[in-house]
Amino acid sequence: MAQRILNFVGGAWTDSSAEVKQNVSNPALGKVIGEVVMTPQEQVARAAETGHKAYQEWRKVPVTDRIQYLFKFKQLLEANIDEIAKTITNEAGKTYKESVAEMRRGIENVEVAIGTPILMQGYNNEDIASGIDEHMFRQPLGVVAAITPFNFPGMIPLWFMPYALATGNCFILKPSEKVPMTSVKMFELLEQAGFPKGVVQLVNGGKEVVDAILDHPYIKAISFVGSTPVAKYIYSRATANGKRAQCQGGAKNPVVIMPDADMDTTTRIMADSAFGCAGQRCLAASVAITVGEARNVFTEQIADAAASRVVGYGLDEKAQMGPVIDARSKSRIEQIIADGEKSGNANVLVDGRGKSVSGYDDGYWVFPTILENVNPESELARTEIFGPVLSLMHANTIEDAIQLVNNRAYGNMACIFTTSGYYARKFRNEADAGNVGVNIGVAAPMAFFPFSGWNESFFGDLHGQGRHGIEFFTQTKVVVERWPQEWSRQF
Ligand code: NAD
Repeated sequence: MAQRILNFVGGAWTDSSAEVKQNVSNPALGKVIGEVVMTPQEQVARAAETGHKAYQEWRKVPVTDRIQYLFKFKQLLEANIDEIAKTITNEAGKTYKESVAEMRRGIENVEVAIGTPILMQGYNNEDIASGIDEHMFRQPLGVVAAITPFNFPGMIPLWFMPYALATGNCFILKPSEKVPMTSVKMFELLEQAGFPKGVVQLVNGGKEVVDAILDHPYIKAISFVGSTPVAKYIYSRATANGKRAQCQGGAKNPVVIMPDADMDTTTRIMADSAFGCAGQRCLAASVAITVGEARNVFTEQIADAAASRVVGYGLDEKAQMGPVIDARSKSRIEQIIADGEKSGNANVLVDGRGKSVSGYDDGYWVFPTILENVNPESELARTEIFGPVLSLMHANTIEDAIQLVNNRAYGNMACIFTTSGYYARKFRNEADAGNVGVNIGVAAPMAFFPFSGWNESFFGDLHGQGRHGIEFFTQTKVVVERWPQEWSRQF
């Protein structure tokens, strides 16, 4: 029977009164496993009000006590990682191993946020003028909210939640309506960790729920991860309403392959980057730019790697890649490939369309696909495909390759494979991207570094994770004080 997805508001699991529902599917089975109800505006308002009330007490809880809840939450996440990972696989489609890895990266953010007693410290000077001292404190904002995408249902909420809570804010999560079950599991653990009522809340739904969050005056900051058009919309509406916003958008990540690269290692890493998580990763390699004689050998090797990747249900140990998220996504990806081929802007070297996995005929399968000779000026070269599709381009020199890297709207990630320190350094310096990899296929910053998208991949100032997370969720208060001796009684 399909699981009905509940909200967690004011410390209780509550159903929504709304009529509008959306099915949650297991993308490998093509079968409905859940039903998410779109929370009406007044219930979102209730969550904001409950959070606002809880905030009056939570902000006064000493930071050393606040992080005890996170210690507990971390232990519970560790103890339940298998169950959460299976939930991720069943609703998002990725392999069990990928789901566990996702949770590990999420848990690392809880660990970093446990360092908040140090990370949140301010600074001060004595005697900025004679007998006058000046201090900077960091104080929480109030109620904050995160709106997250389907592709990392466990990790992405944890890019924000632990930092927000440890710094003394109350937190509301609105997960993707395509994958709400992982959040339900995590909120069961938050409940067990014993956070006071209203400190951490869950509301489900789509655009209407997002709009209610963006417009509510008690909600002071918005963290968003998703596609670029929605990131732009959310950033504009949140900031127009006077809120802080950090909005991470889409990507189209280029990788330069130099002729001196170790080709076996490069191919292995590139195949994992392009086809891991079925290419539904904002740090997936989506364009490979070979330089000089790298072209023939890389093309041959990556085509073999793509054709031999084992696609299947993520709970099957043999599966190296799962399905894409839904039927709509599958047909969108296949259409982009078809349009690219028809317009003459690419040749399909390895074709992942029209395939199916035995025993899972209703799954949303797109197998690894390689597009060759992609025209860098075409729409195809600019569009985020968000599926297991790698586009190949070629350049004669590193300068031409860097120009191709920088000739795009996004700036989430750019990587180079080379054995030359000179080329690596030049690339690191000149690539127009916030996350750069050298002989790395997925340049994902650890939890103690900011997730630094640029250009159309990010709107805002402070990124998610680490010190940026602490700064985003706090406002600085500067105190200048004078205590003359003559005002004190003499003892
Ligand atoms: P999406 O933009 O469709 O949805 C993200 C969230 O926004 C969901 O919670 C959804 O309910 C909400 N939403 C969707 N449409 C909305 C609208 N019109 N108004 C208000 N809210 C809306 O993204 P997705 O398909 O869930 O995720 C895939 C996208 O996320 C890709 O573009 C990918 O590159 C991006 N992504 C980026 C990063 C990053 O760090 N930059 C990380 C992961 C995913």
